[in-house]
Formats: sequence, structure tokens, C-alpha cells
Amino acid sequence: MNVGFIGLGAMGLPMAKRVVGAGHKVLTFDLRRAPAEELAALGATIVATPAEVANETDVVITMLPADAELREVVFGAHGLLEAFGPGKILIDMTSATAEIMLAVEQALAQRGGRVLDAPVSGSTLAAADGTLTIMVGGTAELLEQVRPLLQTMGKNVLHVGGVGQGKLVKIVNQVMAAIHLLAIGEAFSLGVKCGADPKVLYEVIKTSSGYSRMMDLRLPGFLLEGTFKPGFKLDLMKKDLNLAVDSAQAKGIPLMFGSLAAQVFSAASTAGRGGEDFSAAANFLAGLAGVKLDGQTQRSTE
Ligand code: NAD
Repeated sequence: MNVGFIGLGAMGLPMAKRVVGAGHKVLTFDLRRAPAEELAALGATIVATPAEVANETDVVITMLPADAELREVVFGAHGLLEAFGPGKILIDMTSATAEIMLAVEQALAQRGGRVLDAPVSGSTLAAADGTLTIMVGGTAELLEQVRPLLQTMGKNVLHVGGVGQGKLVKIVNQVMAAIHLLAIGEAFSLGVKCGADPKVLYEVIKTSSGYSRMMDLRLPGFLLEGTFKPGFKLDLMKKDLNLAVDSAQAKGIPLMFGSLAAQVFSAASTAGRGGEDFSAAANFLAGLAGVKLDGQTQRSTE
């Protein structure tokens, strides 16, 4: 299959490497030259615009930061829309809104193209291992057509409804992931302030009722070491939470904990931590309590 891959960031590059590794002929475009060259070293071809990618491929995958970049890649000058024609397929894997996804589907359908909405969950390591969870919105028939391609990147490829539903399921996951992370930051701060060892807290709560998978994902290697190299950038999680807050507002329902989480991420971003891994938000919260969760601080027994 001739596959286009646009957006070679922390996630897109390892995902695209798997597509190349599976033997597909890959054409790629990214605003940054370095990751495109890294992919080209494995056999991909670099082209100059999204339109050139669409011209010469059957399926185009996009893995971009958010709505604005997806809009630019599809509708901008030399965008995908210019070159889309009958039979061509776009699989957008960005965490974005259902609204932009539906607008993209409508525009590409007018040219005979078809669209799947397929955001992912999982770390950059899962992207490299091909073990992502992929939540797919679109027709079941189109999903079956491209399932082998998606399975080069993901272990769990799940059909969740029509176009836009993938984006929705992803945002629900993000609200929960952010709240779990901040729950660790707040509760561990209390424990450490009162004299507990954060490593002991982890060991005990791992098999207790307060456990969440976020502990395994972001205590070792991040919070317990006090290092926050992304991973998943804090500003991208802030974007996801704001999408959730906007959706709740549009539906007229409360999103109390999600809104609070969005505020903490916003404050951490304003404090200059937006480019760090999103777990820095829990470290920021601990900082408000004057606590470090990496076990380096003198623990108080007051
Ligand atoms: P990133 O910021 O590391 O990468 C984005 C890439 O898109 C960059 O290489 C950038 O140069 C490129 N880009 C931006 N605008 C472009 C344009 N107009 N044309 C071509 N290329 C353009 O982001 P990421 O961490 O790879 O995340 C991508 C998406 O996946 C986001 O929606 C994010 O929320 C989601 N996500 C990330 C993770 C993670 O752990 N990093 C996990 C799951 C989902």
C-alpha cells in the first residue's frame, strides 16, 4: 500500500517507523526536517506539501497537535483537499474535536474521498512497540479495509461509532487520565508532608483501592525521579482538557473535576512548564504544598 504520513512528532515518528517497517511505501511531510530525514533513512520519501503526499498515496495518516494544524494540513495552501480524489482515504489520528473531523469528512467526501477518525491512547513507548489503543470513528467497512495498516501501530483497534466518535472517546479518556494524575500529585503531597516515603506509598497503593494505572505510567521515570522529559507534553493535555470543558459547556452539563484539572494544567503552563511531560502538573501541584515527590526532600513529621 502507498501510505502518506504527516506529523512526525513524539508519537507520529515512532508510528510512521512501524508503517515503514511493515513494508509499505511511505511518503512523508512535516514542518520539521529532522524527523522526516530520520524516517527517510529507513526508506520513506520526503515531499514538500500535504498535497504532494495525497497525490501519490492511497491512504494518508495525519498525527498533528490539534485542530488548527489539522485544518492547515487539509484546507491550507497545497493542503490535502487540493489533491484528494475518489478512492483516497484519510485516517486522522490527532486528538482534536469531533467538529473539525466532521468538517474534514464533509470536504473530502465531496471529492470522493473517505475518512476515519482514529485517535490513540498509549505512551511514546507504546507507539514504538505498536501496542497503542486506537479508537476508530467511521464506517465499519472502511475500518476493516485498513485494519491491517492500523494493526502495525496498535494492539487494540476498536470501532467506537461514526466519524467524530473517536475524538469524543479520546477526550473522555483524557479527563480521567488528568484527574488520576492530579489525584496522585495531591494525595502523595499530603503523605510526603506528613512523613511518608513516596516509594512506599506507591508500593502499598499499587495493590490498594486508590490505585490507578497512571501510577505505573508516571511515578517511575517521572514523578519519583523528579524528571519531566516528554513523553506527552503538558500543553497537549491542557488542550485536551479545554476540549472537554468546551464540550461540557456546549451540552450544558457540569464538568467540575475536569474543569479544575484544566485550571491546574493552565497554571502549570503559565508557570513555564507547558513543554515538559504532562506529569509535571502533579509536580507543580506538589510544589504548591512545598513538597517534592522524588523522595529527595527532608520529610516532615509534624
Ligand atoms: P508533537 O508536538 O510531538 O508532534 C506534532 C508534529 O506535527 C511535529 O513534528 C510538528 O512539526 C508537526 N506539525 C505541526 N503542524 C504541522 C503542519 N501544519 N504540517 C505538517 N506537520 C506539522 O505531538 P505528539 O506528542 O506527537 O502528539 C500528536 C497528537 O497525538 C496530539 O493530538 C496529542 O494530543 C496526541 N497524543 C499524544 C501522546 C503522547 O504521549 N505524546 C499520546 C496519545 C495521543
